[in-house]
Amino acid sequence: MRIVFLGAPGSGKGTQAQRLVERHGIPQISTGDLLRAHVRDATELGRRAKAVMDAGQLVDDATILGMVRERLAEPDARGGFILDGFPRTIPQAEGLDRMLASIGQPLDAVVLFDIDPQLLVKRISGRRTCQDCGRVFNIHTAPAPSPPPCGGQCDAPRLMQRPDDKEETVAKRIGVYEAQTRPLADFYAAQGLLRSIDADAELPLVTARVESAIAPR
Ligand code: AMP
Repeated sequence: MRIVFLGAPGSGKGTQAQRLVERHGIPQISTGDLLRAHVRDATELGRRAKAVMDAGQLVDDATILGMVRERLAEPDARGGFILDGFPRTIPQAEGLDRMLASIGQPLDAVVLFDIDPQLLVKRISGRRTCQDCGRVFNIHTAPAPSPPPCGGQCDAPRLMQRPDDKEETVAKRIGVYEAQTRPLADFYAAQGLLRSIDADAELPLVTARVESAIAPR
């Protein structure tokens, strides 16, 4: 199964991708996570990307396509994948099409997580990540449980806010999504791949909607 998750920052793509990984045994490929790993490891790419990411802008298409090409060549991606946060521009989508056409493995579906942009700022600015296990919580909707789940370390002092999740940057990221990424809905609708779901619901309900959106037709 080769799937793209399309949606604004905070629409729940990453959370739902993690749930599908467990159910379907295919990897989640998040370009945001790949970039953050580069930033953490202080690679050359990471040093270039950091300022762009902190400003809520998009990293250039050539860098992103190179990173995705490498990731898709890894053995775990042979049986399928969920692309989360990629593509984000039309040139990225065209590049992905070319990459997949060259190996005869086109996309099966593109799921659009539809949500009122007004809800996103609150959702994202409440997001906190455990520095130890990477688990994501939300101070408004999904606070870290007590006792903490990760060996006692997943507690308030270890919960960090991503630099680009601050309220000032979030509004900019939503603007960038509307201008550069939303047009991909039409791009994929024209290919007959787009499945739009209402993403403003409890987690299990959204998961059920995603499952029915990706079920073979
Ligand atoms: P995310 O975790 O998907 O919200 O991504 C965090 C940041 O990484 C974005 O705001 C961008 O600066 C950068 N980024 C992630 N994926 C892409 C992409 N496909 N194209 C360009 N920039 C990206």
